[in-house]
Amino acid sequence: MPDAPLPASDFLGLDALLTAEERLIRDTVRDWVRERVLPDIADWFERGEFPRALFPELGALGLLGMHLTGYGCAGTNATSYGLACLELEAGDSGLRSAVSVQGSLAMFPIWRYGSDEQKDEWLPRMAAGAAIGCFGLTEPDAGSNPAEMRTSARRDGSDWILDGTKMWITNGGIADVAVVWARTDDNFRGFVVPRGTAGFTTKDMHRKLSLRASVTSELILENVRLPESAVLPGVSGLRGPLSCLNEARFGIVWGAMGAARACVEASVDYAKTRTQFGRPIGAFQLTQHKLADMVVELSKGTLLALHLGRLKDDGRLRPEQVSLGKLNNVREALAIAREARTILGANGITLEYPVMRHAVNLESVLTYEGTAEIHQLIVGRAITGLNAFD
Ligand SMILES: Cc1cc2nc3c(=O)[nH]c(=O)nc-3n(C[C@H](O)[C@H](O)[C@H](O)COP(=O)(O)OP(=O)(O)OC[C@H]3O[C@@H](n4cnc5c(N)ncnc54)[C@H](O)[C@@H]3O)c2cc1C
Repeated sequence: MPDAPLPASDFLGLDALLTAEERLIRDTVRDWVRERVLPDIADWFERGEFPRALFPELGALGLLGMHLTGYGCAGTNATSYGLACLELEAGDSGLRSAVSVQGSLAMFPIWRYGSDEQKDEWLPRMAAGAAIGCFGLTEPDAGSNPAEMRTSARRDGSDWILDGTKMWITNGGIADVAVVWARTDDNFRGFVVPRGTAGFTTKDMHRKLSLRASVTSELILENVRLPESAVLPGVSGLRGPLSCLNEARFGIVWGAMGAARACVEASVDYAKTRTQFGRPIGAFQLTQHKLADMVVELSKGTLLALHLGRLKDDGRLRPEQVSLGKLNNVREALAIAREARTILGANGITLEYPVMRHAVNLESVLTYEGTAEIHQLIVGRAITGLNAFD
């Protein structure tokens, strides 16, 4: 009797490498995405919206700041956080982005570098999804090189005055609080800026062809006066924002494989049922060639994510290794999504199937949190000891 077919979504049986608790978390998120996201995601994407009402649900599931401890955070291990990112991004990269920004880019700096007052004020509400956060680093003229940022923070008595514009800020327009990075006289500092602060406004960015089910905004700071208590006391320099990005990139290493898995599953299903020339298209060697290569990269990328997760849980993960993971997994997920699109033929370009949505989303994921080129430079510098950035 022939062996049972191996599932495309877990060809290597990586499931067996997870603990019972990790599997439970993974299954809970997977079920929630199937029930609450998949039925509507195409409409949200088409309308260009991300329902704010999902935040309290994500909070109730323990997914916001889930690998942080205290303040109502779930305190799971990093691997569980990664598995959740994978399942969320199998739904949509916009959904995973919302959770990454909340947990890794807005809650993490407050949790790691904030004062006790800042932590008490924001973290419990953010963990519950009652307050939404965003992370303002990128500017119109400062993307890959944040050291070129112009947003300034100057002293006025014991207060700070912030001026500048941040761009491409996920969750910006729906955020209750922004973590804004600014240039001081001699350094860079992070500031906790609540919505409603005089001089602080946001403007949503439209006409995006990627990550449509995600709010992307400008943050405009005009003579914004903040008390001394608004500065993150525990960090100065670009080390602050870069450490947050490292947390979020770790989630992307996993998340990208979720988008890839959704594309592989959709194309395997389609290839088995769509017939041309009297046979399922999955029976043609050229189609099997594509599917096999897709499953090879999905399996390798998921194994890589798991390895990095175990390193992180062991306290041994280095930022350069996260860069390698982000570079590989997003690049390969995008290649898988594009190949899946060809298998679905004309149907592949519609929102009736997930592949084109994932493909265009992954274009953003390739660019944000350090472009593919920046991660190549980070890995290249680590190997050679030579800096090729400028
Ligand atoms: C949907 C979306 C959401 C985002 N969310 C956020 C957010 O929440 N918060 C936030 O702060 N930012 C956010 N960003 C911004 C994102 O991080 C930046 O777009 C990214 O860092 C790249 O910057 P840039 O777009 O200015 O490109 P640039 O830095 O101008 O780069 C353009 C091209 O030049 C290449 N390049 C640059 N420097 C070098 C070099 N030294 N060597 C070789 N090639 C180089 C890049 O790799 C890229 O290919 C988001 C972006 C998008 C698209």
